[in-house]
Amino acid sequence: MAKFYITTPLYYLNGNPHIGHASATIAADVISRWHRMRGDDVFFVTGSDEHGEKNQKAAEQLKKDPQAYVDGLVETWKKAWGSLDISYDDFIRTSEKRHEAAVPDFLARLKKAGDIYKGFYEGWYCVHDETFITDTQLRDGKCPECGRAVTRVKEESYFFKLGRYQDLLLGLYAKNPSFLSPSYRADEVKNRVRGGLKDLSITRPSLVWGIPFPGDSKHTVYVWVEALLGYMTVLGWPGKGRFGEFWPADVHLVGKEINWFHTVIWPAMLMSADIPIPRKVFAHGWWTVDGKKMSKSVGNVIDPIKISKAYGVDAFRYFLIREKPLGEDGDFSEAALKARINGELVADLGNLVYRVLSLAERFDGNIEGTPELDKHLDIKRIDALMLELDLFGALNEIWAFVREANRYVNEKEPWKLQGDALGNVLYNLLEACRVISIMIGPFMPSTSAKMRSQLGVGQGYLKDCRFGKFDGKPKKGSYLFTKIEN
Ligand SMILES: [Zn+2]
Repeated sequence: MAKFYITTPLYYLNGNPHIGHASATIAADVISRWHRMRGDDVFFVTGSDEHGEKNQKAAEQLKKDPQAYVDGLVETWKKAWGSLDISYDDFIRTSEKRHEAAVPDFLARLKKAGDIYKGFYEGWYCVHDETFITDTQLRDGKCPECGRAVTRVKEESYFFKLGRYQDLLLGLYAKNPSFLSPSYRADEVKNRVRGGLKDLSITRPSLVWGIPFPGDSKHTVYVWVEALLGYMTVLGWPGKGRFGEFWPADVHLVGKEINWFHTVIWPAMLMSADIPIPRKVFAHGWWTVDGKKMSKSVGNVIDPIKISKAYGVDAFRYFLIREKPLGEDGDFSEAALKARINGELVADLGNLVYRVLSLAERFDGNIEGTPELDKHLDIKRIDALMLELDLFGALNEIWAFVREANRYVNEKEPWKLQGDALGNVLYNLLEACRVISIMIGPFMPSTSAKMRSQLGVGQGYLKDCRFGKFDGKPKKGSYLFTKIEN
């Protein structure tokens, strides 16, 4: 059984999840479910990055203990993932014992490799992004990432010799090109690395809310350095157990804004610690809302839970994958969501299933025939697209097949047929519906289950996505989707 280990970012808790978090987590869920359907042994991890100055300050403002503050937030996030049907196998919190206890082991390895030294950091710091910023990176004197005011810091600090890893990193990218995915984002990273790497400050002056630096508790481990370790501590590292089974990760799915941490700092630290490097870091794009950048001040932050309650969880999941390729930016609007629900989920899929089951229910002959509709189905290609994380491309192919099935109904006009001729058409359509119910499962789990129950078939795997004998017991149920009126 092939092992497959995928992670979302360990999200920095800051309010409730927005559409960007939801879309990345849904994408990781779709990928995980697809691999399970292939029969792979999947481990799917999400979690929360909880330490740092930002959370400490937020807790202080609310007059709360930082632990109590993040405990509350984590509950909200877990509930959100539950309501979006996210099938994660483990949720790692960086304030958990299993994580905190492992951090000194990792730093000891970097130290043993001669990669840690004490120095003095002078530069800028963005508390919002928990990021060090150089003079040249400033944009109009503000943080280049979030545009907020930055703080001048002059502090004693421990450093990691990132500068030493320039050639090794370039070697890694050359040897494993798909480590930097999608490929069109690779040059950005490579060029920056070629331009030279500065050593990285890996501590902050002692924060109450953080992990003390081993051997010098006047310092706290820089939140980014320990957060990335969560991908390993969730597997029980430094113990072997699950870590031995699932490491290195197959995919770290990350936002493009944190690609640098995952494709430069993280592999360099792993090389220093003599730990295998993950196979792929995939940077996903961002969502705008109604053509505008999402922000609290504009007031256009989309609450994924509200939207999925209003329009249906599966419709929301479908839209996020269908609307744009995972790596690219895209725009969210309720108008576009409604258009896809009415034009695709209702008119294509819902209509197909309803028509086919209505005919099948009235038919009392044998549902048998010769496969002909399956010539439009290329399951190998769809699987290959999914393995490349082209979820958009795969769903597009699946949808082309749904539309072919509708075209087949219109062309054959089964309402004019009877006997074996009708049995043959129904056989093809029911097999098409059964295969579609399997293929859409990772994208729309509840709709898939509803289809299976109406078709009277059991759970299927990827290997079942080919026409055989239809042995379901079809029984028309309610519409899969209902039209959204304006
Ligand atoms: Zn910032």
